[in-house]
Amino acid sequence: MKINENYKNLETSYLFSTIAKKVSQFIENNPQKKVIRLGIGDVTRPLCKSVVDAMNKAVDEMGTPEGFRGYGPEQGYEFLKDEIQNYYKKRNVLLKNDEIFISDGAKSDLGNILDLFSTDNKVLIPDPVYPVYVDTNLMQGRKIEFLEANEENDFLPMPDFNTKADIIYLCSPNNPTGAVYNKEQLKKWVDYALKNNAVILFDAAYECFIDDNNLPHSIFEIEGAKNCAIEFCSFSKTAGFTGTRCGYTVVSDELNFDNMSLNKMWLRRQTTKFNGVPYIVQRGAQAVFSESGQKEIFENINYYKRNAKIIADTLKKHNIYFTGGIHSPYIWLKCPNNMKSWEFFDFLLEKIQVVGTPGAGFGKNGEGFFRLTSFNTYENTLEAMKRLDGIL
Ligand code: PLP
Repeated sequence: MKINENYKNLETSYLFSTIAKKVSQFIENNPQKKVIRLGIGDVTRPLCKSVVDAMNKAVDEMGTPEGFRGYGPEQGYEFLKDEIQNYYKKRNVLLKNDEIFISDGAKSDLGNILDLFSTDNKVLIPDPVYPVYVDTNLMQGRKIEFLEANEENDFLPMPDFNTKADIIYLCSPNNPTGAVYNKEQLKKWVDYALKNNAVILFDAAYECFIDDNNLPHSIFEIEGAKNCAIEFCSFSKTAGFTGTRCGYTVVSDELNFDNMSLNKMWLRRQTTKFNGVPYIVQRGAQAVFSESGQKEIFENINYYKRNAKIIADTLKKHNIYFTGGIHSPYIWLKCPNNMKSWEFFDFLLEKIQVVGTPGAGFGKNGEGFFRLTSFNTYENTLEAMKRLDGIL
């Protein structure tokens, strides 16, 4: 028996375990001090009422002979796909129901989609970015090239038409930088992919944080994208489903390579290896799109955004370079006084007991940067920024 040797190329991620260790050590030595965590990438507001009510109703249904459901369609119930279809229609993106695939979240699909592609493909991945893209490709032994995101390009790298790639990851709004591509920039990526016969894997997990009608929420708002892109989205950050688990992936039936339909391939992959998202959860996700659901989820999103603004305003006051914070729950800042990421982490923990995430954990270009998140209470965010203001 031979193992998949590619796993040997994975680096152990010490990022969050090191943070946890440092914080618990600090608390042990300083039990009287209140630590405020602005490093978490998980939502903190509870599920909204409309979602909870819909899931309760679905639980009751499941307990009756008429309402019981066993295996559902692997690609999701029509009632949820209809809502997603309508959601896209509001931005003039017309999708067919069989182009929408309901999943247990964006992370699984981002990893699983690689089943459709040869391991010979060359992959372009932004640096810094959500680490799952790198690791899932390393697991399959693909060659990775990095797209340099930095202060010069405001963490929005653009294509180099002189180099060729086959699979391109884009994440907008980005984790960890919060940077968002505009339509012109995405159009260049679509042009590049079409020219190179490449596929774009577009991660729109944070689209609901976009606050400007001119910025694209979906890559399918760009002409030509249906011929070169797959979009991944999630209810995790939109509606607090990080623990409930539901997302969706859009694969157009116009997406063909080597006379093979990627839509058909993905359907085949999902019906073979996946047995669908629980009925109860899909009913909860459906409720996100109801009038009351939309109102309630945006109350939560706006709550986080108010926190983000408090952080952004503090950084502006001190002329600290940052991206994000407007169309994103994340604020990506340049560590003051040329401090390294971990140095700044220790500095904040020691001096003001505020915990963030060192940028170096998201790629080499993250060194010297730091991620703060708005996933905490308003009061704690205010307090943390008061403390930061005091030491800057
Ligand atoms: N994509 C990005 C960019 C993320 O930051 C995350 C989670 O933090 C995910 C996808 C995962 O989403 P899900 O909870 O739907 O698996």
